[in-house]
Amino acid sequence: MKHILMELPYAIDALAPYISEETLQYHHGKHHAGYVNKLNTLIKDTEYEDMSLEQIIHQSSDAIFNNAAQVFNHDFYWKSLSPTKTEPSALLLGVLEATFGSLETFKEAFATAGIGQFGSGWAWLVVDEHEKLTIQTTANAHTPIEHNLTPLLVCDVWEHAYYIDYRNDRVKYMDNFWALANWEHASKILESKEHLKLSTTTVPFCNNPDDPMCEYLDEMAHEGTTSS
Ligand code: ZN
Repeated sequence: MKHILMELPYAIDALAPYISEETLQYHHGKHHAGYVNKLNTLIKDTEYEDMSLEQIIHQSSDAIFNNAAQVFNHDFYWKSLSPTKTEPSALLLGVLEATFGSLETFKEAFATAGIGQFGSGWAWLVVDEHEKLTIQTTANAHTPIEHNLTPLLVCDVWEHAYYIDYRNDRVKYMDNFWALANWEHASKILESKEHLKLSTTTVPFCNNPDDPMCEYLDEMAHEGTTSS
């Protein structure tokens, strides 16, 4: 099966001024297209040739994995952006507030995670294996679907995503991400998962001592509860 470069779901200049047409020409037209072409070349005449993208991600390693996962991650990133302003649905907003304290606290924690990702990678909002909303970062091509987690929102923190518009200023790029974040897409995915036992009432959310984000999130949550 030949993999095809996803068309952008908006005009190539639609994300300006936050993400320029020139960035999209390179990021979508060269980098993303490059992963698709490389993947098609690598899987030709192999056991991966007839697999779906997700099957390849689950079963391959090295260059085939890297290119397949980068195709998936970029497809998801384009869908995580919107040129028109969107809002989280009542369900998503409720779960975000129950999990992180407030939408603003979530945004700060998400940006902190993305800024803190060393080198190339991705910042994600996912539904984790405990059916909780979690912020995760993945390095290089890695992706939450390797672990069967459900991504809702992603920000590409590879330098190729922001260098033309922001040079090395990842902080400013992540700050402007909120002007484009596609909450409608994230909300639709969450609402399609009706079986999830997502709570909109619990506040304690961070109980994994191995997660370096936990301490930070707990602090933010406490601030959120004491000030409201
Ligand atoms: Zn990218």
